[in-house]
Amino acid sequence: VSTRYARRAGGTYVEIDDRALAHVLDRAPWLGGARTGESSPFTEEGLLAPAEPSKILCVGRNYKAHAKELGNEVPKEPLLFWKPPSSVLAPRGAFALPPPNVSERVDQEAEIALVIGKTARNVSVADALDHVFGVTLAFDVTARDLQKKDGQWTRAKGMDGFCPLGPEIVTGLDVGALKFTCRVNGETRQEGDTRDMIFAPAELIAYASRFFTLLPGDVFLTGTPEGVAPLAAGDELELDAPEVGLLRVKVAASGT
Ligand code: ZN
Repeated sequence: VSTRYARRAGGTYVEIDDRALAHVLDRAPWLGGARTGESSPFTEEGLLAPAEPSKILCVGRNYKAHAKELGNEVPKEPLLFWKPPSSVLAPRGAFALPPPNVSERVDQEAEIALVIGKTARNVSVADALDHVFGVTLAFDVTARDLQKKDGQWTRAKGMDGFCPLGPEIVTGLDVGALKFTCRVNGETRQEGDTRDMIFAPAELIAYASRFFTLLPGDVFLTGTPEGVAPLAAGDELELDAPEVGLLRVKVAASGT
Protein backbone atom coordinates (compact mmCIF):
# COMPACT_ATOMS: atom_id res chain seq x y z
CA VAL A 1 0.00 0.00 0.00
CA SER A 2 1.45 3.36 -0.93
CA THR A 3 1.02 6.64 0.92
CA ARG A 4 1.78 10.13 -0.39
CA TYR A 5 3.46 12.91 1.54
CA ALA A 6 4.27 16.51 0.72
CA ARG A 7 5.53 19.62 2.49
CA ARG A 8 3.59 22.85 2.44
CA ALA A 9 4.58 26.49 2.75
CA GLY A 10 5.63 27.10 6.33
CA GLY A 11 7.34 23.73 6.42
CA THR A 12 4.48 21.50 7.59
CA TYR A 13 4.51 17.94 6.32
CA VAL A 14 1.19 16.51 5.17
CA GLU A 15 -0.07 13.00 4.49
CA ILE A 16 -2.41 12.84 1.49
CA ASP A 17 -5.25 10.34 1.67
CA ASP A 18 -7.27 8.62 -1.10
CA ARG A 19 -9.80 11.47 -1.15
CA ALA A 20 -7.02 14.04 -1.73
CA LEU A 21 -7.29 15.42 1.78
CA ALA A 22 -4.00 16.65 3.21
CA HIS A 23 -3.58 15.77 6.89
CA VAL A 24 -1.06 17.92 8.75
CA LEU A 25 1.69 15.96 10.55
CA ASP A 26 3.47 17.14 13.69
CA ARG A 27 6.90 16.36 12.18
CA ALA A 28 8.50 14.70 9.17
CA PRO A 29 6.88 11.35 8.41
CA TRP A 30 10.24 9.50 8.59
CA LEU A 31 10.63 10.85 12.14
CA GLY A 32 7.32 9.31 13.12
CA GLY A 33 5.11 12.30 12.31
CA ALA A 34 1.52 11.85 13.55
CA ARG A 35 -1.63 13.59 12.30
CA THR A 36 -2.50 16.69 14.30
CA GLY A 37 -6.18 16.49 13.37
CA GLU A 38 -5.99 19.46 11.02
CA SER A 39 -6.75 18.74 7.34
CA SER A 40 -7.65 20.54 4.13
CA PRO A 41 -8.03 19.65 0.42
CA PHE A 42 -4.62 18.94 -1.10
CA THR A 43 -3.35 21.46 -3.61
CA GLU A 44 0.04 21.79 -5.28
CA GLU A 45 -0.02 25.55 -4.78
CA GLY A 46 2.72 26.69 -2.42
CA LEU A 47 4.33 23.29 -1.99
CA LEU A 48 7.92 23.15 -0.81
CA ALA A 49 10.34 20.40 -1.80
CA PRO A 50 9.12 17.33 0.12
CA ALA A 51 12.34 16.82 2.13
CA GLU A 52 15.03 18.95 3.77
CA PRO A 53 18.16 16.92 3.06
CA SER A 54 21.43 17.42 4.93
CA LYS A 55 22.97 16.16 1.69
CA ILE A 56 21.92 15.11 -1.77
CA LEU A 57 23.86 12.15 -3.07
CA CYS A 58 23.90 11.47 -6.79
CA VAL A 59 25.31 8.86 -9.11
CA GLY A 60 26.73 9.60 -12.54
CA ARG A 61 26.47 7.34 -15.59
CA ASN A 62 24.06 4.83 -14.08
CA TYR A 63 22.30 4.10 -17.39
CA LYS A 64 24.34 2.58 -20.22
CA ALA A 65 22.77 4.54 -23.08
CA HIS A 66 23.31 7.85 -21.25
CA ALA A 67 27.00 7.09 -20.51
CA LYS A 68 27.39 6.33 -24.21
CA GLU A 69 25.62 9.47 -25.49
CA LEU A 70 28.26 11.61 -23.72
CA GLY A 71 31.11 9.37 -24.87
CA ASN A 72 31.81 7.87 -21.43
CA GLU A 73 32.61 4.32 -20.34
CA VAL A 74 30.24 2.51 -18.01
CA PRO A 75 31.77 2.80 -14.50
CA LYS A 76 32.91 -0.32 -12.64
CA GLU A 77 31.62 1.02 -9.33
CA PRO A 78 29.06 3.78 -8.62
CA LEU A 79 30.40 7.23 -9.53
CA LEU A 80 29.15 9.36 -6.63
CA PHE A 81 28.90 13.13 -6.32
CA TRP A 82 26.96 15.70 -4.28
CA LYS A 83 24.57 18.52 -4.84
CA PRO A 84 24.32 20.99 -1.93
CA PRO A 85 21.03 21.48 -0.02
CA SER A 86 20.94 25.04 -1.40
CA SER A 87 20.39 23.62 -4.90
CA VAL A 88 16.93 22.29 -3.95
CA LEU A 89 14.05 23.91 -5.84
CA ALA A 90 10.38 23.54 -4.93
CA PRO A 91 7.87 22.07 -7.40
CA ARG A 92 6.56 24.70 -9.86
CA GLY A 93 9.60 26.87 -9.15
CA ALA A 94 12.08 28.29 -11.66
CA PHE A 95 15.86 28.08 -11.76
CA ALA A 96 17.95 30.70 -13.52
CA LEU A 97 20.52 29.85 -16.16
CA PRO A 98 24.04 31.02 -15.33
CA PRO A 99 25.30 34.02 -17.34
CA PRO A 100 26.53 33.02 -20.84
CA ASN A 101 30.13 33.94 -19.92
CA VAL A 102 29.95 31.25 -17.19
CA SER A 103 28.11 28.48 -19.05
CA GLU A 104 26.58 28.13 -22.49
CA ARG A 105 25.09 24.69 -22.04
CA VAL A 106 22.75 23.69 -19.24
CA ASP A 107 21.03 20.30 -19.59
CA GLN A 108 18.14 18.63 -17.82
CA GLU A 109 18.67 15.18 -16.31
CA ALA A 110 15.43 13.53 -15.18
CA GLU A 111 15.93 11.16 -12.24
CA ILE A 112 14.10 9.01 -9.73
CA ALA A 113 15.06 10.12 -6.20
CA LEU A 114 15.04 8.12 -2.98
CA VAL A 115 14.35 9.72 0.39
CA ILE A 116 16.20 8.11 3.29
CA GLY A 117 14.01 7.14 6.25
CA LYS A 118 16.48 5.56 8.67
CA THR A 119 20.14 6.32 9.40
CA ALA A 120 22.22 4.14 7.09
CA ARG A 121 25.86 3.37 7.81
CA ASN A 122 27.60 0.33 6.38
CA VAL A 123 24.33 -1.35 5.44
CA SER A 124 24.22 -4.49 3.30
CA VAL A 125 22.57 -4.64 -0.11
CA ALA A 126 19.93 -6.94 1.42
CA ASP A 127 19.07 -4.38 4.14
CA ALA A 128 19.55 -1.19 2.11
CA LEU A 129 15.97 -0.59 1.00
CA ASP A 130 14.74 -0.85 4.61
CA HIS A 131 16.49 2.51 5.06
CA VAL A 132 14.54 4.19 2.25
CA PHE A 133 11.36 6.01 3.24
CA GLY A 134 9.97 6.58 -0.23
CA VAL A 135 10.42 7.80 -3.77
CA THR A 136 10.15 11.24 -5.32
CA LEU A 137 11.29 12.95 -8.53
CA ALA A 138 14.22 15.22 -9.26
CA PHE A 139 16.09 16.98 -12.00
CA ASP A 140 19.88 16.89 -11.81
CA VAL A 141 20.36 20.15 -13.70
CA THR A 142 23.87 20.26 -15.11
CA ALA A 143 26.04 22.94 -16.74
CA ARG A 144 27.59 20.48 -19.18
CA ASP A 145 30.45 22.71 -20.31
CA LEU A 146 31.50 23.43 -16.71
CA GLN A 147 31.35 19.73 -15.88
CA LYS A 148 34.02 19.14 -18.54
CA LYS A 149 36.02 22.29 -17.84
CA ASP A 150 36.20 22.03 -14.04
CA GLY A 151 37.20 18.36 -13.89
CA GLN A 152 34.96 17.88 -10.85
CA TRP A 153 31.27 18.61 -10.77
CA THR A 154 30.59 20.91 -7.81
CA ARG A 155 29.90 24.07 -9.78
CA ALA A 156 28.32 22.34 -12.80
CA LYS A 157 25.69 20.58 -10.70
CA GLY A 158 25.52 22.57 -7.49
CA MET A 159 24.13 25.97 -8.43
CA ASP A 160 21.07 27.42 -6.72
CA GLY A 161 17.92 25.77 -8.03
CA PHE A 162 19.78 22.99 -9.86
CA CYS A 163 17.91 20.30 -7.90
CA PRO A 164 14.14 20.59 -8.49
CA LEU A 165 12.56 18.04 -6.12
CA GLY A 166 9.05 16.68 -5.57
CA PRO A 167 6.16 17.17 -5.64
CA GLU A 168 5.33 14.25 -3.33
CA ILE A 169 7.08 11.33 -1.67
CA VAL A 170 5.38 8.01 -2.29
CA THR A 171 6.00 5.01 -0.04
CA GLY A 172 5.58 1.32 -0.78
CA LEU A 173 6.75 1.36 -4.40
CA ASP A 174 9.15 -1.08 -6.04
CA VAL A 175 11.93 1.41 -6.81
CA GLY A 176 13.56 -1.09 -9.16
CA ALA A 177 10.57 -1.07 -11.52
CA LEU A 178 9.50 2.52 -12.22
CA LYS A 179 8.99 4.16 -15.59
CA PHE A 180 9.39 7.90 -16.09
CA THR A 181 9.23 10.43 -18.90
CA CYS A 182 10.81 13.86 -19.22
CA ARG A 183 9.14 16.46 -21.43
CA VAL A 184 10.47 19.88 -22.37
CA ASN A 185 7.78 22.25 -23.64
CA GLY A 186 5.50 19.23 -24.05
CA GLU A 187 7.93 17.22 -26.18
CA THR A 188 9.30 13.95 -24.87
CA ARG A 189 13.05 14.13 -24.34
CA GLN A 190 13.84 11.24 -22.00
CA GLU A 191 12.15 7.94 -21.28
CA GLY A 192 13.53 5.98 -18.35
CA ASP A 193 12.92 2.70 -16.60
CA THR A 194 14.72 1.98 -13.33
CA ARG A 195 15.11 -1.64 -14.48
CA ASP A 196 17.83 -0.32 -16.83
CA MET A 197 20.04 1.01 -14.04
CA ILE A 198 23.60 -0.30 -13.97
CA PHE A 199 23.62 -0.18 -10.14
CA ALA A 200 20.23 -0.88 -8.57
CA PRO A 201 18.93 1.38 -5.77
CA ALA A 202 19.85 -1.14 -3.04
CA GLU A 203 23.42 -1.37 -4.36
CA LEU A 204 23.71 2.44 -4.46
CA ILE A 205 22.56 2.88 -0.87
CA ALA A 206 24.79 0.07 0.43
CA TYR A 207 27.81 1.36 -1.48
CA ALA A 208 27.38 5.00 -0.41
CA SER A 209 26.78 4.01 3.23
CA ARG A 210 30.32 2.60 3.38
CA PHE A 211 31.66 6.15 3.08
CA PHE A 212 28.90 8.51 4.27
CA THR A 213 26.28 8.16 6.98
CA LEU A 214 22.94 8.70 5.27
CA LEU A 215 20.52 10.56 7.52
CA PRO A 216 16.71 10.57 7.56
CA GLY A 217 15.51 13.11 5.01
CA ASP A 218 18.63 12.82 2.87
CA VAL A 219 17.99 12.41 -0.84
CA PHE A 220 19.65 10.09 -3.35
CA LEU A 221 19.37 10.81 -7.08
CA THR A 222 19.72 7.55 -8.97
CA GLY A 223 20.98 8.69 -12.39
CA THR A 224 19.50 9.71 -15.71
CA PRO A 225 18.67 7.80 -18.91
CA GLU A 226 19.68 9.02 -22.37
CA GLY A 227 18.20 12.14 -23.93
CA VAL A 228 19.93 14.92 -22.01
CA ALA A 229 19.97 18.12 -24.08
CA PRO A 230 20.43 21.88 -23.68
CA LEU A 231 17.77 24.09 -22.11
CA ALA A 232 16.82 27.67 -22.92
CA ALA A 233 15.21 30.42 -20.85
CA GLY A 234 11.44 29.99 -20.86
CA ASP A 235 11.53 26.19 -21.20
CA GLU A 236 8.98 24.25 -19.20
CA LEU A 237 10.19 20.95 -17.76
CA GLU A 238 8.00 18.06 -16.74
CA LEU A 239 9.07 14.81 -15.11
CA ASP A 240 6.18 12.39 -15.23
CA ALA A 241 6.24 9.05 -13.41
CA PRO A 242 2.72 7.63 -13.22
CA GLU A 243 3.24 5.93 -9.86
CA VAL A 244 5.17 8.79 -8.28
CA GLY A 245 3.80 12.07 -9.62
CA LEU A 246 4.44 14.96 -11.96
CA LEU A 247 7.24 17.44 -11.23
CA ARG A 248 7.00 20.73 -13.13
CA VAL A 249 9.55 23.55 -13.13
CA LYS A 250 10.64 26.37 -15.44
CA VAL A 251 13.90 27.70 -16.75
CA ALA A 252 14.49 31.41 -16.19
CA ALA A 253 16.95 33.71 -17.94
CA SER A 254 20.28 34.38 -16.28
CA GLY A 255 20.28 37.19 -13.76
CA THR A 256 16.66 36.59 -12.73
ZN1 ZN B 1 22.45 13.00 -13.04
